[in-house]
Amino acid sequence: MERKEIIERLKEGSPEELFKEADRVRKTYLDDEVHIRGIIEFSNYCCRSCLYCGLRRENENIRRYRMLPDEIIKLANEITQCGVKTIVLQSGDDFGFSQKVLCRIIEKIKEENPEIAITLSIGERPLDDYKAFKDVGADRYLLKHETANLKLYERFHPGQTLKRRLQILEYLKKLDYQIGAGNIVGLPNQTLEDLADDILLMKRLDVDMAGIGPFISQKDTPLRNHPSGNLDLTLKVLALTRIVTKYTHLPATTALSTLNPTYGQVLAFRSGANVIMPDFTPEEERKNYIIYDNKTRVDLEKAKTIILEAGRKISTARGDSLKWKRHQKAFASI
Ligand code: SAM
Repeated sequence: MERKEIIERLKEGSPEELFKEADRVRKTYLDDEVHIRGIIEFSNYCCRSCLYCGLRRENENIRRYRMLPDEIIKLANEITQCGVKTIVLQSGDDFGFSQKVLCRIIEKIKEENPEIAITLSIGERPLDDYKAFKDVGADRYLLKHETANLKLYERFHPGQTLKRRLQILEYLKKLDYQIGAGNIVGLPNQTLEDLADDILLMKRLDVDMAGIGPFISQKDTPLRNHPSGNLDLTLKVLALTRIVTKYTHLPATTALSTLNPTYGQVLAFRSGANVIMPDFTPEEERKNYIIYDNKTRVDLEKAKTIILEAGRKISTARGDSLKWKRHQKAFASI
């Protein structure tokens, strides 16, 4: 799909046809199964200053926490015992967790649960950290590009550049990670052209997964007065990403559920999504992982209910990227 057509479709007044088309593409390239990824938000320390995020280092109104390595490993084991085959380890960009400690955590989780996949979502680190994490068993890396608009990127991420973000994603791909990018829909001054560029960027990066969620304001950030993103527009971006990128794993994000607790994620499943990420972070820590306000709690039971409500099946597989699997096979046969 050309940029011009993507922009036209983002403007569509009644997007029902678009959502149905995305659902058909999802069914053609994937199947009816929804993959469950269990997320542990193990630290809310962050050295970055993203203007929209409640974890930004300037925010003094949240109580900072770090889970202990043994707590993280124990929780990962419990998640696995619930039948969940992917553990997502997420945190702020926290260098309080050294390469060595993170490697030990990954290694231990993999040692005790060799059948599961580990996704890391821990931000920008020195390149040799990514290599070390892969060497001890990390499988996937989620690093949203947030916005493909250079100027907006630099405005919302003081001290960071889009160029670096994309270099890291390319490097992760070289290391054979399954990679995830993704954007925020509804940032101040973001245009439909910017959203089309987000979709085309994800296509160009040939991502294995993409997190697409609305902006939601957080009261202790500089964007506190900016209205939250629009549900329909976010679903349109999701649907178009499905149509343009075909096989990509697309979560029905918790941010969509926060925007519309009753239907947000069910609608996402009807518009191209095939993944959900229930939150396993212990209550004490979760209440301080305030990236945005009024974050909905989607636990495993709720995630399963939503999948069934959307008329879909619960996957019992690891849910690796099909693109990545084909790539592996091609190399194995040489
Ligand atoms: N530090 C890691 C990183 O930067 O990739 C992962 C943690 S970060 C909190 C995870 C994601 O939260 C970001 O990629 C961003 O898209 C999202 N996020 C943060 N604040 C948000 C907000 N106010 N509205 C919507 N999404 C937000």
